[in-house]
Order: sequence, then C-alpha cells, then structure tokens
Amino acid sequence: MSETRQFQAYTKKLLDLMIHSIYAHKDVFVRELISNASDAIDKVRFEALTNSELLEGDGDFKIKLFPNAEKHTLSISDNGIGMTYDEVIEHIGTIARSGSEAFAEKLKAAGGDAATPDLIGQFGVGFYSAFMVAKKVTLHTCKAGADHSVRWESLGDGEYTIEKGDKTRRGTTITLYLRDKEAPRVEGEEDEDHEVFNQDSYSDTWTIKRIVKKYSDFIAFPIVMDVEKHEHERDEEGNVVEGGKSETKIVEEQINSGKALWTRQSSSIEKEEYSAFYKHLSRDWTDPADTLHFHVEGAQEWTALLFVPEKAPFDLYSREPKRGLQLYIKRVFIGEDIKELVPEHFRFLKGLVDSADLPLNVSRETVQQDRQVPLIRKRIATKVTSHFKDMLSKDRAGYEKLWVELGQCIKEGFHYEPASKDKLADIVLVRSTHGPGWTTLAEVAARKQEGQTAIYYLTGDKLDVLQNAPQLEVFRKRDVEVLLLPDPVDEIMVAALEKYADLPIKSAAKGELDGLPESAEAAEHKKEQEGTYKPLVERLSKLLADQVKEVRISERLTDSAVCLVSEENGLSAQYERMLQAMGQDVPVQKRVLEVNPDHGLIQALAALAERDKSDERLGDYAEMLLDQALLAEGAPLKNPAKFAQRIAGVMAAAVGH
Ligand code: ADP
Repeated sequence: MSETRQFQAYTKKLLDLMIHSIYAHKDVFVRELISNASDAIDKVRFEALTNSELLEGDGDFKIKLFPNAEKHTLSISDNGIGMTYDEVIEHIGTIARSGSEAFAEKLKAAGGDAATPDLIGQFGVGFYSAFMVAKKVTLHTCKAGADHSVRWESLGDGEYTIEKGDKTRRGTTITLYLRDKEAPRVEGEEDEDHEVFNQDSYSDTWTIKRIVKKYSDFIAFPIVMDVEKHEHERDEEGNVVEGGKSETKIVEEQINSGKALWTRQSSSIEKEEYSAFYKHLSRDWTDPADTLHFHVEGAQEWTALLFVPEKAPFDLYSREPKRGLQLYIKRVFIGEDIKELVPEHFRFLKGLVDSADLPLNVSRETVQQDRQVPLIRKRIATKVTSHFKDMLSKDRAGYEKLWVELGQCIKEGFHYEPASKDKLADIVLVRSTHGPGWTTLAEVAARKQEGQTAIYYLTGDKLDVLQNAPQLEVFRKRDVEVLLLPDPVDEIMVAALEKYADLPIKSAAKGELDGLPESAEAAEHKKEQEGTYKPLVERLSKLLADQVKEVRISERLTDSAVCLVSEENGLSAQYERMLQAMGQDVPVQKRVLEVNPDHGLIQALAALAERDKSDERLGDYAEMLLDQALLAEGAPLKNPAKFAQRIAGVMAAAVGH
C-alpha cells in the first residue's frame, strides 16, 4: 500500500528555492549522491565488523552509475547500509537540520545568484540537490538485515509517495528522471568549466565520467559504470584478424582511482584533490582556506587530514554545533562528528583521523573512554596552533582573513585550555589604538614606551565606541598603545592571560593608573589638585552616593570632563553586561566617577561648590555628569528622558532664556 505524505514546510520552501534559483554548479548533485552512497557503505562495513551476517555474502562494496541517454535518466546504486521504511521518512522526507530555515532565508536574501550554492552544502540538503536537475526522483532501498524494501518517489512539488516492498538486495538505488533538454540560460552561456549549460547531458556516459573524476575520484570504494567494449576476433598471437568477426560486450569499468586520499604522500596530492575531498567530507561547496595533512609515529601511529573552512560554519556559536572529526581505524570508517578528537576552540576544523592502533571494535561510545583519544586531541591542538603561528608569520593577509572568520572561536581556547594560553597568545590578533589594522600581542609589547611597565586594554561592545572612549585620553597623550577588545570572549582572554612578555595586562578603565611613563609626576600633580577640588568632590560623592562608589580626581582624562572606571579587582562594565545578558544575577557593582580637573566645566563646578554650599543646581549637574560618562561608553542611561529634560534646561539657560 502506498502512502502519500507532505514534505515539511521548510523542505518544500527549500526545494522551491533550489529548483528555481540555482543555475550554476549543478554538477555537484553527483558528488552529493555519491557521498551519500559512500557513507552508506562505510556504515555497513563498520556494522559488519561485529555482525558479518549483515553483508549476506556481498562484501564487494561498490557504487554503480547508470546513465541512460534514451530514457533521460541517471541512476546511482550502492550496496551500503540501506534504509528502513521509517528511516526513509525520517531522513529523506524531512530536512532535519536545525539550520534549514536559516538557510532558506539566506538563499532568498542572496537572490539566488551564483554565490548561493555554497550555502546548500553547509545546511546539509545534499539529497535534494537531485531536484536541481530532475523532474522526478525515485529511491529504492533495502536496509541490511531488514525484511522489506522501500520505494519512495517525488516530483519535488511538496509531496512524496512511499511504499513497502519485498526484500531485495541490500543497498540503495536512486534514479533521476532528468528534466527535458533545456536551452542554455542565455544563448551560448558557459559555466565555470566552459561547458554549455545543458542538463540533458547528465544521462551521457562521458559527462558523468568527467564529473566523477573531478569531484569524487578519491572515494575509497570503486565507482563503476557499464561500458560497451568492442572485441575483435584475434589470431593465436593476439593480433586482430582483418575482416574477422567483432563482438560488442558490456563490461564494468571503474571510473575513480579509489585510494583513500589521506594514505597518500601529501607531496603527491594536488590542491584540487584536497579541495574535492574537503567538499565531500564537509558538504561545503567552497574550497577550504587551509589544509593540514600529517602523520604521527612513535608511541601512537595515526594520520590526520584537517581542513580549515573559509567561512565560519553557520552553527559555530550555536548551542550544539555539528563538530568533531571522522574517525577511521586502519582505513575502516568508525564514525563521524567525534568531538573528542578536536579541542573545543578548534571546533571549526573538518577532517579525519585514521589510527593504526586503536582497537577495531571501538565504537562511538567507547571512543570517549579510550586513553589514546585525548592524546590525539592534544597533539592536534599543538599542531594546529603551531601551524597557525607559522601562517601568521608567512601569510599575514591569509591569517587575518582566517582570524576575522574564526578568531572569536579560537579565543575560547583561553577558557577551555588555559594550560595552552601562552601558545594561544602568540596566534591572537587584536585591534589597538596603534592603527586601524590587526596587530599581535608581540607587536604591541615591542612598541611599549620607555618607562611603561604594563600592557593596557579596554573592553566594550563596539570598536568605534572604544576608539573614542574618554578612558583612553591620557594614554593617547603619552603615546601608550591600548588594546581595544570588543568581543565578549576578550574578557576571558585577558583574565586568563594575566601577562604577556613579562608585562602585566591591565585594564585602562580599572583602578588607579600605574605602569605608565611619567606616572610619578602625574601623581604629584594630582595630590595638589585633590586639595583644590575637595569641596566639589565631596559634594558630588554625597549626591551620587547611591550610584557610584566614589568620585575622584582623574589622571586619565585630558579632554573629557568625566569617565567611569571600575575598581582594580572589580568586574568591568562590559563583563557585567555580558553576565546580565546571560541571565546571571550579578551583584550591583558601583564604579568610580572620575572628574577631570583640567576641564573648564569641572573648574566652574568647583568654583560653584566653593561659593555656594547649598546651590541646588549641583544635584542635577551631578546626575548629568554621571549620565555623560555612561553615554561615552555606549551604556544605557537609567532615565534617558530625564537626561534629555536636564540638557534642555541647561541649554535654555545657556542661550539666555
Ligand atoms: P546528509 O548526507 O548531509 O546527511 P542528505 O539529505 O544527503 O543529507 O541525506 C540525508 C540522510 O539520508 C543521510 O544522512 C542518510 O542517513 C540517508 N541517506 C541518503 N542517501 C543514502 C544512501 N544512499 N544510503 C543510505 N542512506 C542514505
């Protein structure tokens, strides 16, 4: 009995978009379907390690392609694990990935131009790519060990039919009924490979051969196709008999070279081969930004092939990102997304580890307990960190690009792997007051001024707000560089680091200033002023007692009238807001309001406080000073309307109303 079911709403939307908005790169559907077939064979081979009966005597793993020019069809058949009725509904009838909605939106936003296909892979809609070229797709599958087979069929129009059938040979066959021959999108237009856009050719043997070679050569199982071979009559010595009989035979030809890529010498592997492999493994449609391929020998023996994606994966910061590496043991696929193999802060890495000495009966679950796995992860962390350091010195521009995409994630290493903080510090890029570009901590340390004994930083929400923060004034004046740190994770970084190149790392907005050149002179000057400004400082302190810890004379300010600073060991304002945003109860931290004795406003207020101990205007002015300080760091005001009223009042008075 066949059943007709609806696709999920998102799936339908995606299909629509895919069919109607993607014109170029259609070839990749072949790679997607072959990847699925290869994964399915990996799975059955793995299951068979502990249950050889599953193979039912068929251990001759392969993927077979059937292009049929007459019928305009292409079939892709594998003897992999297959699917049960319920699995087909679960995997094929729905796009389970959490990102599919986001994907549909991105695709729409991009307007379906040529840049969009690289989105598809990221969101794991591989199977559906078939509908880019097919008006109808059928799938016939029989799960290893199951008592039934399943037929599935869809026109890609929002519904599909599914029905159970008799048990057949293990594996899956997918048949694409290709769309009718379409004219090129624009007469004579070529795609990036200079082939005229022509879907019908997907039923052509040569076209398929070319595409398989290009995208799927490294697939570790044979990809085969039936080809006609003409056999001529030969004499006893093997020479063709002239005018003799000739026979046409069908033979199975292997199209790919079929050797696991990572087992080859890296020097013999072309960039394109790595790239094709990366795309297969990550389902990304763009080239990787970087590749690491290395072999470890000694107490342990294993090979790793790791890729750094060009763009941060869309789920990098989601609660449950898809992450981890594939694990192979002596070329046999054990599992994917093994997160124990990569450190958290390098979770964007795609790739695999092939171990020569993990026990073959290890499973996903036992991997977690295996003693060797943490050692592999540690080694990978070290390798990747030193690779990045190398890249930073040899290809600064490339590294900066990588940092923009992945730097935030890498900095999480200060939290997850505090023991590696010194190594991590060497690959960190930051912004600073030195100039508009990225800089390293080593460069910052090298630029320190004579007499400067600390590295200073300022955290906040936005780079441009930080750049203009009043807390930086004295540093500018004395030509001392300050790191500008706008990422939430930066707080964790500076807390973990404590120092760099023997220079303590200090907040420019915390505590009293020391470690700056000429500090001693400034302190002297400040002492003098403290006497003069005592009446004002005391009045303000009293008026703002509920809101600030104290009011004091500033050494930091040169141009602005006021700023807020935290206590030496207090949380920074940025950190406090971050914790609040995460829903944590943060005890209210009162900060210190610093006033600038060189500023005309403060001088005038001091005169007022001196003259008239009861002038009521000072109450309003105190509030306005505090609000100004908050505004300058981009923080929200407690009562913005009141602030606006006060400003209006002051302005009215100033223009002589
Ligand atoms: P992805 O491959 O990224 O998971 P697909 O849409 O291509 O997404 O496939 C969805 C799921 O359908 C696969 O994860 C797999 O479980 C199942 N599947 C697809 N093709 C096959 C196949 N040839 N054999 C067995 N299962 C398959």
